[in-house]
Amino acid sequence: LTGAKLIDGKAFAARIRARVAEEVERIRAEAGIVPGLAVVLVGEDPASQIYVRNKAKQTVESGMHSVEHRLDASATQDELLGLIGTLNADPAIHGILVQLPLPGHIDEERVINAIAPAKDVDGFHISNVGLLATGQKAMVPCTPLGSLMLLRDELGDLSGRNAVVIGRSNIVGKPMAQLLLRESCTVTIAHSRTKDIEEVVSRADIVVAAVGRPRMVKASWIKPGATVIDVGINRIEGPEGKPIVVGDVDTDDVAAVAGAITPVPGGVGPMTIACLLANTVTACCRAHGLAEPR
Ligand code: NDP
Repeated sequence: LTGAKLIDGKAFAARIRARVAEEVERIRAEAGIVPGLAVVLVGEDPASQIYVRNKAKQTVESGMHSVEHRLDASATQDELLGLIGTLNADPAIHGILVQLPLPGHIDEERVINAIAPAKDVDGFHISNVGLLATGQKAMVPCTPLGSLMLLRDELGDLSGRNAVVIGRSNIVGKPMAQLLLRESCTVTIAHSRTKDIEEVVSRADIVVAAVGRPRMVKASWIKPGATVIDVGINRIEGPEGKPIVVGDVDTDDVAAVAGAITPVPGGVGPMTIACLLANTVTACCRAHGLAEPR
């Protein structure tokens, strides 16, 4: 690697988790309340199982109440909706996360929109999407929120900068674009139908890649000095046939041109869970009328 600064998301996430733990202690001391997060996993997807295990572990480590519900892959939509109804009504639970993707026979939108918006710590409920889009107080999706924190830490004021988000999914690309717009960036969203994507990206001061294509973004796409946030998590075969995880950015290539770049792993990934914990504390404070963490 040459040139670009590597943005240490792992260290940043550890600082957020430490702050979350302090807030959890404050809430316990001041109000006698323990913030609670429920994670629901349907089926046996191996990647999802790892995510859910990590989420539960870090929830407990931060002093919060953690509940895990594992449903069989054959669970019906009504069973899942029933569980969400129970969690919505449970005063010990302040955040509910349904691990995606769900098995094909379940209507994902219906399930997400059944979560009480105030407990929707993933920020995917249609109410939170609308609140974010209209600049109101929302639950903000964790991966874009973590990416924005890294950008603000690196660049300070983002106002007036050209930002290109590659990818337009509801969970990363679109909310990322909304957040950058809220920061007064000039935002372009690129996707699979974008013409001359290389030229579009090369105008950006900030590039956020959320595509799911290993090492797609090359040095020739990047404006010298640009800040590059790599959201991608792609499992590929590495040297000696061993599986490795790489991002959507060709890091070694791009590092020669970019000003700063997030590595994969160790960039955006750890920020996602840290923001989930922070969102759960925020949800708890809002539910009980307590001062929200800064
Ligand atoms: P989706 O598959 O939902 O969306 C991918 C987006 O990329 C789509 O909008 C698609 O365009 C676009 N795209 C696909 N191919 C191209 C191309 N050749 N050129 C330009 N755009 C293209 O993925 P997600 O948003 O869910 O995730 C994106 C990546 O981020 C994945 O690698 C995922 O694993 C990772 N991820 C990481 C997280 C973390 O914690 N770090 C959390 C969530 C996701 P179109 O809409 O036109 O099809």
